[in-house]
Amino acid sequence: MNPIFATLPTTVFDLMSGLAREMGAVNLGQGFPEDDGPLDVRAAAAAAILAGPNQYPPMRGLPALREAVAEHYARLAGVTLDWATEVTITSGATEAIAASLLAVVSPGDEVVVFEPMYDAYAPLIQRAGGVVRPVRLLPPGWTVDDETLAAAFSARTRAVVLNTPLNPTASVFDDAMRARIARHCVAHDVIAISDEVWEHVTFDGVIHRSMLVAPGMRERTIKIGSAGKIFGMTGWKVGFVCAAPALTEVVAKAHQFLTFTTPPHLQHAVAYGLAKPTAHFEAMREAYARSRDRLESMLRQAGFVTTPSSGTYFLNVDLRASGIALDDVDFAVRAVKEAGVATIPLSAFYARDADRGFVRLCFAKRDETLERGVTALAKARKLFA
Ligand code: GLN
Repeated sequence: MNPIFATLPTTVFDLMSGLAREMGAVNLGQGFPEDDGPLDVRAAAAAAILAGPNQYPPMRGLPALREAVAEHYARLAGVTLDWATEVTITSGATEAIAASLLAVVSPGDEVVVFEPMYDAYAPLIQRAGGVVRPVRLLPPGWTVDDETLAAAFSARTRAVVLNTPLNPTASVFDDAMRARIARHCVAHDVIAISDEVWEHVTFDGVIHRSMLVAPGMRERTIKIGSAGKIFGMTGWKVGFVCAAPALTEVVAKAHQFLTFTTPPHLQHAVAYGLAKPTAHFEAMREAYARSRDRLESMLRQAGFVTTPSSGTYFLNVDLRASGIALDDVDFAVRAVKEAGVATIPLSAFYARDADRGFVRLCFAKRDETLERGVTALAKARKLFA
């Protein structure tokens, strides 16, 4: 057995969702919306299943979807892509990340990541033979100083994996931060694997801009997007890889031996959905922002202190500032068992020396679910204070 995967625990998301089911707890842990996505997009998938074909689509994805991805990003993100040579459809963003790392990383290469980081990055980098080079982002702004960032890059660096908006911190890299990363990528001939799955989920006028359009990055960025996040249907597992033709060639070759293709009906439906008017995506953002505000104000009334959320489905609770002496894992385990609410401990997003002071809450839920969640969290706070 390969020790990288053999010694790994089951992902914290599956673990907490499992505990939530077992305990009948309110699940504010794993990030998924409670309401299923747009009915017309689901109807398009259902129709495509019945109409067929139900056979292998082209390895890089249906032309109709690749064209729709290019149109969508040209319209909403100001990114110009040639659908035929620069877009590949994958079975979700996690597969896109795996394919990108396998395509880019050779044994011994260093890969810079920003901690806290999504749990899939480190094991996939290691399995590709790479060496994880973490750069710690510090609260409350989740930023890093110039010196620490510069020290992470060297002649050994092959790639940087970044995620903005960032899960779990709910922060967004601004233009200056992207330009800083871009400078190091250009100086050291590094490829940026840019996980932009939360691109449409930003709040308060904060705008996501792709790493593809950062200075000098058009030819050295692999941009990853996700229909699951764009439509709030996380089970669909339809991802997009957008990169210059030479990079796309290699990523597609990795993808062809991971999943080869992605279900054609879902691809048809996503193509339909991506063409929706811009107002649809703005309304989605506003609905999430409203849920965030609701959760934030209910938590404040219950005595909790949260950190700012500029994007993603998440809001983080600062346990110490909220008067809770437990570390994040103890809190999460006891809260789901004793108070009936599932959360995600942020320490699961660190390779080592984790910050143990925060838990992540998902607010993409109905009002009554958020209310029940906060009631249970208030109970936990009383029990553990
Ligand atoms: N992206 C989801 C989250 O952060 C989890 C996905 C998964 O369970 N692997 O909650």
